Amino acid sequence: MPAERKPIVMQTKKTNIIYENWKVYSLHNKLMFRCNEKKANWYLKRNLAKLIPGERTIQLTFEAKGNGHKEGDYMVEERINTCVACNATELLTMHHVVPEMYRRAMPLSIKSKSSRDILLLCKQCHHLYEDKATQLKKELMKQYDCPLEGKGWINSAEKRQVRKAATALLRFEDKIPQQRRDELILVVKEYYDRHENQNEPISYDDDGRIMAWKTILEQYSRLEDVYRGPDFIDHGTCVIRQLMEKGKITSEDGKQERWPELENFIKLWRQHFLDHLEPKYLSASWTVNGEIYNH
Ligand SMILES: [Zn+2]
Repeated sequence: MPAERKPIVMQTKKTNIIYENWKVYSLHNKLMFRCNEKKANWYLKRNLAKLIPGERTIQLTFEAKGNGHKEGDYMVEERINTCVACNATELLTMHHVVPEMYRRAMPLSIKSKSSRDILLLCKQCHHLYEDKATQLKKELMKQYDCPLEGKGWINSAEKRQVRKAATALLRFEDKIPQQRRDELILVVKEYYDRHENQNEPISYDDDGRIMAWKTILEQYSRLEDVYRGPDFIDHGTCVIRQLMEKGKITSEDGKQERWPELENFIKLWRQHFLDHLEPKYLSASWTVNGEIYNH
């Protein structure tokens, strides 16, 4: 089995401004949300917004669907570019409160709404918390019977035997005793007969040697004996699928869907983050019950 992958902590440049804090106002002068310069320019280029000079502010030129975030909501607040746990201003990294392995398996109406759950942590605090997060993942692994390395690996003794035989023949053919060599050749040939195109038999050259032999050995020496089978499912998808199967609520007009168990799962991670890191510099308006969906 492949070793469990260590979480990758992306390091940003010291001078990098992560929150660019552009303000987006509605037609009716209501502060709707914050965004970065790239997104602000996206609106401006399409004439969907006009620039309010002097500040990092744009105003939409169309009637926006929905009303943006509530007044005082975390998403309209000015963000500070420091670690939410220790207030450090250097070696800042983006932390996904709900780990990506789970979020990417969620419906679009949730995963497209991820910015609330991406917080700034310095490298040190990030590592500190990742240890705790790994413990929670291991608990979830037991609870849902979803191994962290995924489910549905195929461990093929046949392929392993062929790979070893091909490797030995490639490296030490001259040194192997005749009888053993014949056995190894037989292992490779039998595998070839079982798996390769029977209309293209191994051909022999003038000296009676098999022409494609070396190519076959090279190919077989790279055979993978542990690999993902057709039913392979990664840990995150395995957990999220089970949660979604526990029930869905559809709005009366049929346009909006909610998954109560996914909501609980996201809140579980938010609470876990607060409990274990006690982030003193996180805005008080960032709460466990903050919005989850994009509708
Ligand atoms: Zn920190």
